[in-house]
Amino acid sequence: MSQTEQTPLSSSHFIRQIVEEDLETKVLGERLITRFPPEPNGYLHIGHAKSICLNFGLAKEYGGVCHLRFDDTNPIKEEAEYVESILEDVRWLGWDWGEHLYYASDYFDTLFAYAEKLIQDGKAYVCDLRPEEIREYRGTLTQPGKDSPFKNRSREENLALFGEMRAGKIEEGARVLRARIDMASPNLNLRDPIMYRILKKPHHRTGDKWCIYPMYDFAHGQSDSIEGITHSICTLEFEDHRPLYDWYLENLGIHHPKQIEFARLNLTYTVMSKRKLLELVEKELVSGWDDPRMPTLSGLRRRGYTPEAIREFCDRIGVAKRNNMIEVSLLEHCLREDLNKRAPRVMAVLRPLRVVLINYPEDTEEALDGINNPEDPSAGTRKVPFSRVLYIERDDFLEEAPRKFFRLAPGREVRLRYGYYITCVEVVKDEESGEVLELRCTYDPATRGGNSPDGRKVKGTIHWVSAKHALEAEARLYDRLFISEFPEKSAEDSSFIDNLNPQSVETVSCFVEPSLAEAEAGSIFQFERLGYFCVDSVDSGKEKLVFNRAVPLRDSWKKIEKQGGGGKK
Ligand code: ATP
Ligand code: MG
Repeated sequence: MSQTEQTPLSSSHFIRQIVEEDLETKVLGERLITRFPPEPNGYLHIGHAKSICLNFGLAKEYGGVCHLRFDDTNPIKEEAEYVESILEDVRWLGWDWGEHLYYASDYFDTLFAYAEKLIQDGKAYVCDLRPEEIREYRGTLTQPGKDSPFKNRSREENLALFGEMRAGKIEEGARVLRARIDMASPNLNLRDPIMYRILKKPHHRTGDKWCIYPMYDFAHGQSDSIEGITHSICTLEFEDHRPLYDWYLENLGIHHPKQIEFARLNLTYTVMSKRKLLELVEKELVSGWDDPRMPTLSGLRRRGYTPEAIREFCDRIGVAKRNNMIEVSLLEHCLREDLNKRAPRVMAVLRPLRVVLINYPEDTEEALDGINNPEDPSAGTRKVPFSRVLYIERDDFLEEAPRKFFRLAPGREVRLRYGYYITCVEVVKDEESGEVLELRCTYDPATRGGNSPDGRKVKGTIHWVSAKHALEAEARLYDRLFISEFPEKSAEDSSFIDNLNPQSVETVSCFVEPSLAEAEAGSIFQFERLGYFCVDSVDSGKEKLVFNRAVPLRDSWKKIEKQGGGGKK
């Protein structure tokens, strides 16, 4: 598999060139019309975002329109819940379909009429072969198929039988309507594909009106045609279906959009198929479609991803004709870049160690000035309470520290962010276990604000919270959901589950500064030195603040991978 392939200038991608040419020659009309056509059988994932940004992006760029159309032809796997989530996710990503919201199910009458026309023209027939026989007759890639014994039924008989199928007089699986094309075609999709099957299931939009439903391949191209789509942009696996779509459109004599295929997005450490994501949900291996470890848009949103970061990512990966693999670290990088500009900084301590400032008065407290965002002076400052007892990060203290450890150690001095210089004078330990329980430190009153009047330098600055003022919170530290770089590599059906990372989330009880008391669900902060954290939109509330870590500040995996190790920090 190839490595991250970046198109340096997204303006150079091949679909844009085709669109520009076509708009110039006006072969497909003067206005670009694209569409994003999800099947409502699952939640959208980051791969869909690529398609959404491409279709809506082109329409915006060239003054056209982009339709949102649900290809809802399969009542067995589709649900209204999925429709709702898809609408929400596309909107959240920042795109607007205006009045152009459509459903393939709204075209069922037209599609039925199209099917009758093909029957009348001798181009479709009702076939009584059983599903397994149809498969057998189909042949293989190396062997041609053979004609169904029902292929030469008369038009009248076909029309009557199709009418009976529609009227519910025939049981499921007993009959199908097929296109009359060529059982010897080298393209299997052209070997008399099924157009309609009997499914005695209610549909989430049409209710009990239908008991026959069009196959995806019979609905998709015609739906594009009905909507006057000029450019039907889809992923590479539809290349082999294009001749079939062409055949339907030509034989029906209706508007013929131009189909263009591009490579779908594949991400390292990620599975992207809806079927597999559904399996994770159904087996309760994640908490739901919006579990912050999921590559779904709802999961990414809950994790703390922003629409801006995802759109930037989609822009950077470009559009190619060849399948490739994008590193998930590029997605994380785009998020860091966006949040670095925008996220307010706060202090929080994930693994607290108590620090007592022995020369700080017991009954005193003060309010220090914290900078909300060094990248954005307009974000201003806030007051951060300071007092005699603090918490610092356990990692920021080492009893036996090497020379280059610029944090706290016995006898060493360090700067508290926005605060004072402190020096560790005593380490209090549990007598039995030897565990460090508390540090006793002195502070230098002359260093308020972080500078020493005598020019004394300290190398390290650490974050802290005031024990008396801090709020207790829960932090969920996420890691990759899969251990393996290519969790889907194995062809075996559910084997991707073996690649799940057993430590993909660690929950810690932590302390955060009091300014976060009113933080709204979904808002995102940089916890200084720790990463970007998002207030969980499901579990966080007045009783308990819950934060999801979207990303750490740096890519800790990069280092580890370079060292050749497999584990995590
Ligand atoms: P999956 O394979 O994950 O089940 P799908 O292709 O069946 O997805 P659809 O609802 O049919 O899902 O997809 C809607 C649109 O999104 C299609 O045009 C499809 O080509 C596109 N799409 C799906 N997955 C990706 C991906 N990984 N990268 C780019 N586009 C994608
Ligand atoms: Mg699909």
